[in-house]
Amino acid sequence: MLSTMQDVPLTVSRILAHGSTVHGGARVITWTGEGDPHTRTYAEVGVRSARLAHALHDELGVRPQEPVGTLMWNNDVHLEAYMAIPSMGAILHTLNLRLPADQLAWIIDHAADRVIIVNATLLPLLVPLLPRLTSVEHVVVAGAGDRSPLEGAAVSVHDYEELIDGRPDTYDWPSLDERDPAALCYTSGTTGDPKGVLYSHRSVYLHCLQLNAAESFALLPRDIALPVVPMFHVNGWGMPHAAFMAGASLLMPDRFLQPAPLAEMIETVRPTISGAVPTIWQGLLAELDAKPRDCSSLTRVIIGGSACPPALMKAFDERHGIRLVHAWGMTEISPLGSVAHPPPHLGAEEEMAYRLTQGRFPASVEARLAGPDGGFQPWDGVSAGELEVRGPWVAAAYYGGAKGEAFRPEDKFSPDGWLRTGDVGTITPDGFLTLTDRSKDVIKSGGEWISSVALENELMAHPHVAEAAVVAVPDEKWGERPLAAVVAAPGTELDFAELGEFLGGRIAKWQLPERWAAIAEVPKTSVGKFDKKRLRAQYAEGELD
Ligand code: ADP
Repeated sequence: MLSTMQDVPLTVSRILAHGSTVHGGARVITWTGEGDPHTRTYAEVGVRSARLAHALHDELGVRPQEPVGTLMWNNDVHLEAYMAIPSMGAILHTLNLRLPADQLAWIIDHAADRVIIVNATLLPLLVPLLPRLTSVEHVVVAGAGDRSPLEGAAVSVHDYEELIDGRPDTYDWPSLDERDPAALCYTSGTTGDPKGVLYSHRSVYLHCLQLNAAESFALLPRDIALPVVPMFHVNGWGMPHAAFMAGASLLMPDRFLQPAPLAEMIETVRPTISGAVPTIWQGLLAELDAKPRDCSSLTRVIIGGSACPPALMKAFDERHGIRLVHAWGMTEISPLGSVAHPPPHLGAEEEMAYRLTQGRFPASVEARLAGPDGGFQPWDGVSAGELEVRGPWVAAAYYGGAKGEAFRPEDKFSPDGWLRTGDVGTITPDGFLTLTDRSKDVIKSGGEWISSVALENELMAHPHVAEAAVVAVPDEKWGERPLAAVVAAPGTELDFAELGEFLGGRIAKWQLPERWAAIAEVPKTSVGKFDKKRLRAQYAEGELD
């Protein structure tokens, strides 16, 4: 027997229609670096999205389910692409502008993007790739900046504003199956070739509902959301679509992602919620310590993408009254998995312990821990295993690209269809996840595991340590041992013997690193995480002795 309920597809065009009417007065505010920020209402975004869809369809011949690339910062025009491209039945393909050129070219080629919308300031990145990008026919340039790099390029070049100018203000958005593809995002390829995750309208829509739930980010019309996390990093963690659905305004940082302009835009525009990886918040902390600004508008600052160092959370609490909210996710999960809102009625210390976990899963994301012996671990807060998840916004396979079928590597999907996250951790009986490491970063020493994250967190609590990354290095006797690569805090000296003693009081003796390296900066991946692969390579090449 079927239910008696309507079966209305959950689509991005619904988010667009709702946000641009019911929340037509909400604003997208783009930071310009000089003078006033640029502001548009969601009603205007609705009109301009319709014009963009006409331009893409009528002028550039974009067809259903065709990927359209965006190589852009977080700004109002990118929001229009976020809305128009999926709503017209095409696929929003965000391109990571921090990837090495070869990987970027590989991804564009794999997806076979024919049209790329690019910010003018990013032309120096795109143009040198064009000769090898056989699929690309049209480059649409948006925003201020020098366009001369495109002179002589063997593609059709369009100015975004000219392209959409004069086109109809409305678009007859097609009825789509909610399982149709809406957006495409590739992982950053830390292991092997990047892998594409093809989100559906349904997954985007349900993920938005979850983001807007009180147990997650609770976006409301009175909020101004500042996604510092780039819109090419897992759809800006879902914030642009979710804000548009909830009627929360958006503050877009464009290319001004350095600590000083971030502090300035927070003080000026007064966002209430933001999200970024720990390195961004480390930078902002140093900036605010050096030059205090009024950041009191921020009621919640989402931190995720890698583990939040306890010292960072405490420093924001104590020195700036800013509450960091720890969350865990990944490209394959749209990205939201868990959020660390502690249970009520706790003392300060207990509450902090909960806030430092990776948090709890919503009902729609099921989790289990695969143990070393093939069984599943109990949720007892102690037994560790590899985290596996499933749910309506979790990937079931990777995108095969224009040239192939979807694929399901064995190390990424269990035979019964759960996603193997590659993250190792424990879950408490009340569902709080604590990750000890990524399985590829854990240090396997003499048959025991050492958590690189635990060592890093303790090291980063030392006043002379600005940043610390710990990686496994080969060891004749133990198989692997930890190497601690440490960046000194400004104006301090590193004394490794003293750091070892400091750790000695907090970490089991056999886990303490014997190998240390002072480095100027921890290398970062394209999305701002510690690049441990590069550190391991630097060690192998003798650069860290
Ligand atoms: P990439 O795989 O390219 O780094 P993702 O953003 O998809 O890109 O990374 C997802 C991974 O980031 C997770 O599998 C996990 O290892 C790590 N991660 C994300 N959030 C957290 C967190 N709060 N704590 C620890 N690790 C995290």
